[in-house]
Amino acid sequence: MIVYKSPEEIDRMRRAGRVVALTIERLVSEVRPGMTTADLDAIAERSIRGEGCTPSFKGYKGFTGSICTSLNEQVVHGIPGRRRIREGDLLSLDVGAIWEGYHGDSAISLFVGGEAPSDVAEKLVRVTEDSLEAGISRLRPGGRLSDVGSEVQRVVEGAGFSVVREYVGHGIGRALHEDPPIPNYGDPGRGPAIRPGLVVAVEPMVNVGGWETRVLMDRWTVVTADGSLSAHFEHTIAVTEDGPEVLTAR
Ligand code: MG
Ligand code: MG
Repeated sequence: MIVYKSPEEIDRMRRAGRVVALTIERLVSEVRPGMTTADLDAIAERSIRGEGCTPSFKGYKGFTGSICTSLNEQVVHGIPGRRRIREGDLLSLDVGAIWEGYHGDSAISLFVGGEAPSDVAEKLVRVTEDSLEAGISRLRPGGRLSDVGSEVQRVVEGAGFSVVREYVGHGIGRALHEDPPIPNYGDPGRGPAIRPGLVVAVEPMVNVGGWETRVLMDRWTVVTADGSLSAHFEHTIAVTEDGPEVLTAR
């Protein structure tokens, strides 16, 4: 069941989203080769709690980090730890925060040290972010929910990459993951009508190679089955009468 949000609820989610955005900005400005993913987790936790919020992911189904840190062939759900990040690593950071019981959720992919190690890596990150923007543009009253994933898939596959199937975007609110699921693929014109009060997290996960994934022995980290690079971008978006409002805009 989809829980549509009141303006007051969206206000709280706006605040959660702002803290998520601010935390991502802090991570982007502080990330350096040689840091561990646990160092990044500590920066993020300090930022989230310093703004009066709680990290959404800490303790979620037993997850030990405040954020997810996924490197190179890792798609999502990487656990922060002792691994050191290196110049040219493709690093995906997924951040969630709770304000007065409401969640914000956003992710970004970047290159450690700023330089992409290859043209294909650079293109992957650009196309993944573009596909998110294209999907968000479809979150308008009058459309149907599957328009979003269909648009993401069009952009991604048009660039020669693939979209992950087993993990999808989601409604968000009092729970981190609510109905409806938002796949990053499919035919347009299906699913629920898009209307004001719908709040969702759209999150394309895009692979250079095939879309198939597997989960590592740690039971969290998702990697591409073929070992190819993967990128991930995400925003939390509220649908208004005028169209999409990105609550986690940086
Ligand atoms: Mg997320
Ligand atoms: Mg999410």
